[in-house]
Amino acid sequence: MECDRCHAAIEPGDEKQHLGQTLCEDCYMDVLSPVKTCDPWAVHSAKSFEKHAESPPALTPIQSEILLILKESGGMEPQALLGKLKPGLTQKEIEREFAVLRHMEKARGEKRGDRVVWRLW
Ligand SMILES: [Zn+2]
Repeated sequence: MECDRCHAAIEPGDEKQHLGQTLCEDCYMDVLSPVKTCDPWAVHSAKSFEKHAESPPALTPIQSEILLILKESGGMEPQALLGKLKPGLTQKEIEREFAVLRHMEKARGEKRGDRVVWRLW
């Protein structure tokens, strides 16, 4: 079973249903509260650490490139990042890659003023 939104694997029984979609807990929380007022990362970290211990995930070329760019730039808005990646990618595609990186705790979103930038974990 996998999440319809970020395509992460979901443990049987952990899946959430929302508007006909099957979502992992993270995405479910995202759709229920798009504006984050608290820090969900702490809860998330403890959980995904257990998952990692079993199977270290492999990065796709796009994910590696995103990490490299974020590392060199120190953080970047999704729009700007899209301009640095190979042509033909859509915002949606890199958001999906980013969601995977988030699940791996390689990268995360950070609010700077009224902007959201992506940066290394
Ligand atoms: Zn998900």
